[in-house]
Amino acid sequence: MRFGLGIKLMGYVMVGVLVTSAVIGVIRVQSERASLSELIGKAGQSVANATASGAASLIAGYDYGNLEMLAANVARQINVIRVTIRNRDGRIMAQSEVDDARTHQRFEAPVVFNGQTIGAVTVDVSTDALERALAALYWRVFVEQAVFGAILGLIVYLFTARGIVSPIRKLTTAMEEAAEKGDSYVARYLEVRSGDEIGRLVSVFNTLNTSLASYHDKLQSKINFANQELRDKNIQLGGRTRELEHALDLLSTMATTDWLTELPNRRKFDETLSRMFHQSERYAEDITLVLFDIDHFKLINDSHGHGAGDEILREIGTLMRLHVRKSDLPARLGGDEFGIVLYHTNAEQAEMFVEILLEGVRAHRFQYEDKQLSISLSVGIAQCDDSMKTPQALYYAADKALYQAKHSGRDCYSVYDGTDALPLRGRESA
Ligand code: GH3
Ligand code: MG
Repeated sequence: MRFGLGIKLMGYVMVGVLVTSAVIGVIRVQSERASLSELIGKAGQSVANATASGAASLIAGYDYGNLEMLAANVARQINVIRVTIRNRDGRIMAQSEVDDARTHQRFEAPVVFNGQTIGAVTVDVSTDALERALAALYWRVFVEQAVFGAILGLIVYLFTARGIVSPIRKLTTAMEEAAEKGDSYVARYLEVRSGDEIGRLVSVFNTLNTSLASYHDKLQSKINFANQELRDKNIQLGGRTRELEHALDLLSTMATTDWLTELPNRRKFDETLSRMFHQSERYAEDITLVLFDIDHFKLINDSHGHGAGDEILREIGTLMRLHVRKSDLPARLGGDEFGIVLYHTNAEQAEMFVEILLEGVRAHRFQYEDKQLSISLSVGIAQCDDSMKTPQALYYAADKALYQAKHSGRDCYSVYDGTDALPLRGRESA
């Protein structure tokens, strides 16, 4: 359970007052006891003295009867509980006992006759009444001080509640609101009601709050500005990124495309051949590589110019694209050399494809300026088999077949059959 500052202050004051009251009460009661004891002492002693002087002639005359009466009369006095009259030897001559008491005080007086001590009187006086009065005093003092403490505590509470607790509570609420507001922070002004520490605290809070709100506004506008800038930059960056992606796509295409025929280039061909080779190995699919080279291409360049040669290369590219399936890969491997990887195709099927290609090229009239030119191709075919462990081995086999076709008079194709003696087909067989 949490107590507020007001309740705590009231509690502290009450405890303080009670402790102080207890100390004051004890001191007051003790001083009362001293003065009352002195009074009782004086009264008791004078009773003892008076009894002694009354008893002097009676002791001297051994008048026991009157001594008894004297003792009885004295014992009737208030608070006197016992009177004893003794002779010189200490023998009791008369005694009167009225009552018993829990506490008492004893007073003694010598009995003097003609200048001589002839006996003694002792008077016991009860102090019960004194103790009762002191106990009552204790309670009265306690109740008085408790009431005084409670009233003082209440007064302190009322004053502190108004002057300290209430302003501190308002300050705390305002601070909590400020802490909770977050983004929508608005400066809040609290009224300064006094010039004391609390008043100064409130005015410091007002100053802090105002500057905090102003910093908050500045910060918020900076954040808004930065956000806007960020959005603009993002938009610009988005545009740049698209441009960059486009440029990268172009670069990647350029890196893998032959600029003249727009066919895949050597690099792309090598990559794809390797991928297809391993794929065919894994799934036991037929794959056949076809390589071809234009016959006497130098002559065309020399006779009709480099431009004519370029045009023929371009048209060969177009023809290849027309002849191959989507799954096959036609490529320009460099100079006047081309290659096609035929997937799902064995050597026999490749031969049929090559024959159509050769026939198509033979029949085609290549147009350059106002001239019509004819060309022929030499082709090497190699089907991948178990003896070929790498794509390079397949390439080597197809290249060997192409070499064979060249050496056999050109415009024909040769199929690699795993031996150096390659069978030749083409023009002669056609
Ligand atoms: P072969 O029948 O033995 O192949 O004889 P060839 O004259 O075709 O000889 P080869 O294949 O060795 O020569 C290729 C020629 O292709 C050499 C070069 O001048 C020419 N060439 C290479 N690249 C280009 C090109 O991009 N454009 C043109 N116009 N010619 C090229
Ligand atoms: Mg050539």
